[in-house]
Amino acid sequence: DQAFLPRSIRDDFPILATAQGGEPLVYLDNAATAQKPQAVLDALVDYYSTANSNVGRGYYRLSMASTDRYEEARETVRQALGAEHADEIVFTRGTTDAVNLIADGLGARLVGEGDQVVVTGMEHNSNLLPWRRLCERAGAELVVAPVDERGAVDAAAFAAVLGPRVRIAAVAHVSNVLGTVNPVREMIAEAHRRGVPVVVDGAQAVPHAPVDVRGLDADLYCFSGHKAYGPMGTGVLYGKRDLLAELPPYQVGGGTVKGVSHTEPVRYVPVPARFEAGTPNVAGAVGLAAALRYVRDLGWDAVRRHDEALVRHAVESLRQIDGVRVVGDPAAAPSGIVSFVVDGIHPYDVGGHLDRHGVAVRSGVHCASTFLDEMGLLGTVRMSFAVYNTADEIDVVADALRSVRPGSWTTDHPTTRFL
Ligand code: PMP
Repeated sequence: DQAFLPRSIRDDFPILATAQGGEPLVYLDNAATAQKPQAVLDALVDYYSTANSNVGRGYYRLSMASTDRYEEARETVRQALGAEHADEIVFTRGTTDAVNLIADGLGARLVGEGDQVVVTGMEHNSNLLPWRRLCERAGAELVVAPVDERGAVDAAAFAAVLGPRVRIAAVAHVSNVLGTVNPVREMIAEAHRRGVPVVVDGAQAVPHAPVDVRGLDADLYCFSGHKAYGPMGTGVLYGKRDLLAELPPYQVGGGTVKGVSHTEPVRYVPVPARFEAGTPNVAGAVGLAAALRYVRDLGWDAVRRHDEALVRHAVESLRQIDGVRVVGDPAAAPSGIVSFVVDGIHPYDVGGHLDRHGVAVRSGVHCASTFLDEMGLLGTVRMSFAVYNTADEIDVVADALRSVRPGSWTTDHPTTRFL
């Protein structure tokens, strides 16, 4: 089952040994958040047991040790993303926080009345709503690059919407609904030819493949640490040094100023501290660094092959079940996600039925209702994989699906409210 991985790793994840209503837990909602290996849990306990104190403020050894751990974590993230400088790495609460930071700072600076902002038709609300709000505030127009029949954005179609009024583009690297991978390198090149900076939402990319921000030439790149085996409430904004250096702070407060008086203009500290107002989630950053090292040590080749094997197995298994339809073609370029629908059965009913078998999947519109609307779907059932998943777990899903019936799980809430 885990043939490509260097060793059996399920024991690294304590939660996998738990049961759900008497059934072993089959956790297939990794695109929402991944489980945490013991190495990450240990890093959190170790930080709180040996180094906990506020960072960058205290002239005593414990505070300096804490600051060192925090900055080491930043360096680990820098290496993982292939960024040039550690000060291009800003710790955030997640992708949502990172996108809001950019829309507020860079977006507000670049986008004025009559300008345009480009997103793609597959965006998660977290990479859509901050841009919509920016446009509403600025009197600008949101332009949506189309998603093609494969469920991905075509670089030429993207280029076609990059007119002279476009000031910034924000695009998903990997769809959180279908797992399709966008040609972001080509898209960024097209945008740069027209002088447009690009923000990439890498929330679903970073857990599944090594990302090289310099290779992509991304101006800004966001991801969520908690989806990449790191702690909840962690995320990263990478930004090219020159771009970040120009931006005003997002939130202001402790840690962001060089000098402040009641009357003189405020002088802010350089990035990244300028974007990390208040006491940061130091333990979270330390845990995220441990997570990135954990995956790196498994080896990206092995992780990729494992991921592909699971996607292929899932697609083959689902195709053999009457009434089940895989959405898109995830096996063409696997990235850890397989979405499907069951004829005549609401995705919530399918999700509830699977839950009774101990299976955790996501059903509904996955915070991307605009994309589901475009595809003409009420919702999907989404299996999303991580390094610890096995083909046997997919077989549990397939077996359970053979007995799903309309209304086999009746939700007592109005489905539209929760979709
Ligand atoms: N973008 C994408 C593509 C996502 O899948 C998610 C998480 N579902 C987000 C953004 C938001 O991430 P977070 O909730 O960690 O801020």
